[in-house]
Amino acid sequence: MKSSMLWKNWSGSVKFNPKEVMYPSTIDEIVTIVKKANSEKKKIRVVGSSHSFTPLIATNDYLISLDRLNGIISIDKEAQIAEIWAGTKLEQLGHELYEAGYSQENLGDINVQSVAGAFLTGTHGTGISHGILATQIEMMTIVLPTGDVLECSKTKNTDFYRAIGVSLGLMGIVVKLKIRIKPATTYRYESKKVNFRELSSNLEKYKNEYEHFEFYLFPYSENVQIKMMNQTRSKKHSYKYEKWKVATIENKAFWLLSEFSRNFPKSSHQISKISASSVPSSSMIGPSHELFATIRTVKFNEMEYSIPAEHMKDATSEIQEEIIQKQFNVHFPIECRFVKKDNFLISPASMRDSAYIAIHMYKGMPHHEYFKRIEEILQSYNGRPHWGKMHTMNREKLLNLYPLLPNFLNMRKEIDKNNIFVNAYLTKLFEIE
Ligand SMILES: Cc1cc2nc3c(=O)[nH]c(=O)nc-3n(C[C@H](O)[C@H](O)[C@H](O)COP(=O)(O)OP(=O)(O)OC[C@H]3O[C@@H](n4cnc5c(N)ncnc54)[C@H](O)[C@@H]3O)c2cc1C
Repeated sequence: MKSSMLWKNWSGSVKFNPKEVMYPSTIDEIVTIVKKANSEKKKIRVVGSSHSFTPLIATNDYLISLDRLNGIISIDKEAQIAEIWAGTKLEQLGHELYEAGYSQENLGDINVQSVAGAFLTGTHGTGISHGILATQIEMMTIVLPTGDVLECSKTKNTDFYRAIGVSLGLMGIVVKLKIRIKPATTYRYESKKVNFRELSSNLEKYKNEYEHFEFYLFPYSENVQIKMMNQTRSKKHSYKYEKWKVATIENKAFWLLSEFSRNFPKSSHQISKISASSVPSSSMIGPSHELFATIRTVKFNEMEYSIPAEHMKDATSEIQEEIIQKQFNVHFPIECRFVKKDNFLISPASMRDSAYIAIHMYKGMPHHEYFKRIEEILQSYNGRPHWGKMHTMNREKLLNLYPLLPNFLNMRKEIDKNNIFVNAYLTKLFEIE
């Protein structure tokens, strides 16, 4: 336990002083903390790796970290299901599964998040045949806001399962999960530069022919980077040098360009063009957990929206035109991914195959005007925000986008009558009484 200290998220956009930071190492300890919070009328927020850009973890009361509850508990080889502690970091999970001959079905861009933190915000990777990471969950064990322990799955307490899978820490503390895994598979990764016209005419083909497909648009440039991954029979891994090279370009070189851009904002237009024209062609073969995850040391702020998959082309064209029209000073590429629909109550991909479009701004450069205008465009396509990334949504707008939000909020009210698991940010966002 640590008392009153300054806590910051990864990008530094969220800062707060929790009264106490607790590191329980058993479920019983968590139950005791939750009961104590109830009797003392204190609030609780759980923290994973503090990688959300929104103030989801902010609290002036108890901040609970599950860092001591980590690792794989068991693997059911026949059913291909792993039981894991919720505090496990995705990187550790990837390595432990690989040692045992398995891998996760899909991952996002980085692997430093905690399993629960990533799953419960709707974190996703790319691939139209893959849902958000939370769709890998078969069962969850939760310490409810009352201190009771509940298990839910696709067949047991299913209403809870659909609510808790994406729940932003509002429904209690997830302590253990059973997730679907698959035998460790070798993938071939390819990245290359194409132009926007070529991308547009082949978008459906790329989306359907590659298990994992994503692309990056560069402001002020017609060049696009496409990244593709498919399984391969080849067993010969060759990724370490190429991965190191890409990490060096995307971090060290890009940091220098970003600093230049921050000091001379108008240069960002040219810098984006330079980055776009120097997209390298690269190819790697290796295990999925090594190829999905990238290292991100250049700090930024980010906004991401999910829109119906069929609007990817129109929305991205509109965004590129708007950047030119408004002459925004931005050199970070726009990340575009596809995700299969799911049926969690407040998942951004709930009930619709989705195109996810993410925009970034280097830390220290103004992002408000840029994010605001692009958010308007994405909202005009019925965009739903990524809960862990910046947005300016309110309850009224959210109700139009999430038909099942009232069910979620009613269920939350029912299980957390004392509002133990809310904070000021979530109270305002959902107008919690
Ligand atoms: C560099 C970078 C890259 C990113 N890449 C991607 C990406 O590729 N795809 C994508 O979708 N997102 C991405 N994100 C967003 C990120 O995945 C999410 O914000 C995620 O929630 C962060 O995980 P975390 O462990 O840091 O969670 P935190 O930010 O610490 O917490 C997130 C939420 O989960 C809750 N929580 C955590 N643990 C528990 C628990 N045990 N029980 C109940 N609630 C809990 C917290 O209370 C909070 O509400 C990225 C973010 C960064 C900074």
